Amino acid sequence: MVERFLAEADLPAVAAAWAREYRVLAPVREGAAVVYRVFSADMHPFLGRPPSSSAKEALLPQTENLFSYKYRKDQTDLTRTEVFLSEPVPPEPTLILGPRPCDARGRHLLDRVFLERGVIDPQYTAHRAATLFVSVACTRMENTCFCHWTGGAMDDETGSDVLLHPVTGGFVARAVTLAGEKLIASLPEASASVLEELAARKQSTPPLEPAPDLTGIAEAFLAKFEDLDFWTDQSARCLSCGVCTYLCPTCSCFNITDENSGMAGRRLRTWDTCMSALYSLEGSGHNPRPSRAHRLRNRVGHKFCYHPREFPDAAPSPSGLEFSCTGCGRCIKSCPVAVDIRSIVLDVLAAVADKAAEKTPEQPGQPEKVEAK
Ligand code: SF4
Ligand code: SF4
Repeated sequence: MVERFLAEADLPAVAAAWAREYRVLAPVREGAAVVYRVFSADMHPFLGRPPSSSAKEALLPQTENLFSYKYRKDQTDLTRTEVFLSEPVPPEPTLILGPRPCDARGRHLLDRVFLERGVIDPQYTAHRAATLFVSVACTRMENTCFCHWTGGAMDDETGSDVLLHPVTGGFVARAVTLAGEKLIASLPEASASVLEELAARKQSTPPLEPAPDLTGIAEAFLAKFEDLDFWTDQSARCLSCGVCTYLCPTCSCFNITDENSGMAGRRLRTWDTCMSALYSLEGSGHNPRPSRAHRLRNRVGHKFCYHPREFPDAAPSPSGLEFSCTGCGRCIKSCPVAVDIRSIVLDVLAAVADKAAEKTPEQPGQPEKVEAK
């Protein structure tokens, strides 16, 4: 394992060296937010808090040009039109600095959508091949974090090329991939005392509160699917703003539009959100998800039921399932009305457990039922 030391004070110089080969996206503070910006010489990357947005923009840009086109009418036969297509410019080699392990795991989940369903997405493939993740391990959980519910951990290496472990005065930089090894090759070796500090900190970190048992969540969700009163109650505060999906490292829905001007134009792919009423509105005027209840149900179902059922053999979480949620907590933190996906999941489980308990009344002589925590 290649381990080096990256001093906090050297971060701008190291980022500048990387920027000679890559477009470096680095987190900086802007007001209360921590946002990714293209690195420039006057910038000091801020790695002290998880970025407010996820790293998915490096792989699935908010808006991108799929191709441009031009038409030319055949002047001798006006029924004939020639179409000329031009391919987009290949993505620049990009290094994203500062994602957290939950974001890096999001990369792995986006791969499921764009690389593993039989149809390989060429644009995503190009971004994926051109992008490196230099992630930062967490040293504490914020109160909205729950990565361990979904199989993650504060120092999970999945999806990262280099994982930076905070220590006094900087970071132990641990290479996860060969590309990561090359990136940190010129940094000084991590000293024995620094490695000891890291090991001691890991040993003294108190264990996380145990994650709830999500083993039956997919079935429980299906059992609750038709209970629209339940979903209406859960979505009562929702404003359909879509922030939860835009900031999510695993939400991958997009829309395709053509921007046309005269005889030329371009085809764009843009993030979409299933929390919007327009998302599922059909040309006929029918909308299969007409209410916020339908839409919130879909978002939660996608993360905790449809995905694990579609990828049953995937790398499991403690529950034995892979969810398309990494527990980053952004949808909780940034929701303007505090909709909390954790409580929805727990409410689904509790409602189904209550229903099952109603159906099986206690038999005389049986021990008293102990409530699950
Ligand atoms: S962020 Fe909150 S209010 Fe906005 S769509 Fe998501 S759940 Fe609804
Ligand atoms: S659903 Fe929420 S907690 Fe889960 S990955 Fe998306 S933003 Fe993070």
